[in-house]
Amino acid sequence: MTGQVLEAFSGAGPLEVGSCANCNLLWFGQSGSISLTPRAVLGLFQYIGQAAGAAKATLASTFHCPLCAGELALTYDLQRSTRFTYWRCANDRGQLFTFNQFLREKNFIRSPSQAELTKLRDTVRQISCSQCGGPIDLTTDTACTHCGAPVALIDPDGVAKAVHDLTIGNASTSPTTQEQNSVAFSNAQLDAFFDQERIEEREGTHDLLAIGVTAIGALIGGMLLTR
Ligand SMILES: [Zn+2]
Ligand SMILES: [Zn+2]
Repeated sequence: MTGQVLEAFSGAGPLEVGSCANCNLLWFGQSGSISLTPRAVLGLFQYIGQAAGAAKATLASTFHCPLCAGELALTYDLQRSTRFTYWRCANDRGQLFTFNQFLREKNFIRSPSQAELTKLRDTVRQISCSQCGGPIDLTTDTACTHCGAPVALIDPDGVAKAVHDLTIGNASTSPTTQEQNSVAFSNAQLDAFFDQERIEEREGTHDLLAIGVTAIGALIGGMLLTR
């Protein structure tokens, strides 16, 4: 893993974040991802977007803490109505998230609705798992049969909310044109998911989530530069 230090909420001090683009993993020291500032959260979204095209390594079934070497415990968590999982150090020294688990915790992605699933089945039938790259047959499965990762789509509302949180942090309360554009952009992306021809133009990749995360990550990167 490569280490990077991201800004956390004041009082908590800087937070150590480790990442591996091939394993799609993020390690958060101490207080974990919950203490990230809106800017740090969006910065990680941008990083995940850049890493989305990287070759995928098979995910291990057990992990050990880089600090105390103890085995990390798979943890099921619930924040408002968002269910997500991660691995936790028994001595509370950190948390390990896959990229998808992190994006789900922050409401950037969500499970498709029944209507969206039907539409996907009608247009693409088979997609690639964004965790392991394996094929997912949408006519029978809503999760990857190889690694268990659930099928997910970008949540445009979650992305817009995160962008708005960043704006509040900069003392502006009303949504800006940029924010509104980002929501429109997200919805356009969602529509693009259902467009078979466009998906096939992208060098045969059927990793719908990676396409969306890469595109929105690039947009967020541009916004972070100007704020
Ligand atoms: Zn530990
Ligand atoms: Zn998989």
